[in-house]
Amino acid sequence: MTYIADPNRYQSMPYNRCGNSGIKLPAISLGLWNNFSGEDVVENQRRMLQRAFDLGITHFDLANNYGPPPGSSEENFGQIMKKDFAAYRDELIISTKAGFRMWDGPYGDWGSRKYLISSLDQSLTRMGLDYVDIFYHHRPDPETPLEETMGALDQIVRDGKALYVGISNYNAEDTKKAIDILREQKTPFVIHQAAYSMLNRWVEDGLTDVLEENGAGCIAFVPLAQGLLTNKYLNGIPKDSRAAKDYIPFLSENDISSDVLQKVGRLNEIAEERGQSLAQMALMWVLQEKSVVSALIGASRVSQIEENVRALENASFTDEELTAINDILK
Ligand code: NDP
Repeated sequence: MTYIADPNRYQSMPYNRCGNSGIKLPAISLGLWNNFSGEDVVENQRRMLQRAFDLGITHFDLANNYGPPPGSSEENFGQIMKKDFAAYRDELIISTKAGFRMWDGPYGDWGSRKYLISSLDQSLTRMGLDYVDIFYHHRPDPETPLEETMGALDQIVRDGKALYVGISNYNAEDTKKAIDILREQKTPFVIHQAAYSMLNRWVEDGLTDVLEENGAGCIAFVPLAQGLLTNKYLNGIPKDSRAAKDYIPFLSENDISSDVLQKVGRLNEIAEERGQSLAQMALMWVLQEKSVVSALIGASRVSQIEENVRALENASFTDEELTAINDILK
């Protein structure tokens, strides 16, 4: 059936300006790292993307290696894009990245100009797009000069293959260096994609200061700690959860320690007092941090996206709530 987007899709989602740039991102964005692979049901992927867009989620985040197998998330997205979203291309912010191992040999990993430019060409082919809105260098490369990596990002923008560029997983010091190089090149660096959640607060230790001082935004990935910051693991590991899927190696039984569960249980009580689920509170909490413009969620089903977007109905925290949360996270 032909997909027609909900005409009311722009009525409630807030769009936050990314630093001092012209680009605005939805407070909640959807990532296709897991649940969009060759192992997952394409009809479910399609329903999730449609529902997300109907709820005002205009930003979909990918990377060359998302799968498994690597590349399959971009391929699946490309098919859905063609079928359902071709008419809405100009309403979407689509991002991809390169920086982790993608193909054999010395040119399919890290941060050389050779890798970044050829990888983006491959991503565009898989997704059936002429350009992406944001292209990221996915992780710092300790061996390639930063000037080369940033030079590749600059070239990509000048060639019209990306409108904006970003970096991901860079520490505060390297972020500042990257920003300085890109500024000299007059390349539109707008965003840092960083892991940030109640269980992982490293960005507060300098990174968000650098971004704010330099007019850039932060998009917080894994804001639910892959599902740990929900109530789903409080009574064991559900069969249909990420931790139970052996083709997803990133979350396992060992990560669900009694220490984490104890914190999660106490956070869950605060969320209940706020009239929210823990997932909802965890998402609103990351948006409190300066320079964070969007919480980049993953989802395995439509109902999670709906629940997460409803979080925006109670986005503010009292000082008492923030103190109580800090005490638990200490
Ligand atoms: P999250 O922390 O949002 O975890 C998503 C998982 O949490 C879902 O798959 C689901 O787990 C569970 N979940 C989501 N909503 C709910 C809910 N309301 N109730 C219960 N469970 C819920 O993020 P991800 O780990 O999926 O990462 C998000 C995105 O971040 C990626 O898709 C990618 O775009 C980006 N990313 C970037 C990285 C980088 O290096 N730049 C690295 C990693 C991610 P379940 O499947 O068990 O149902």
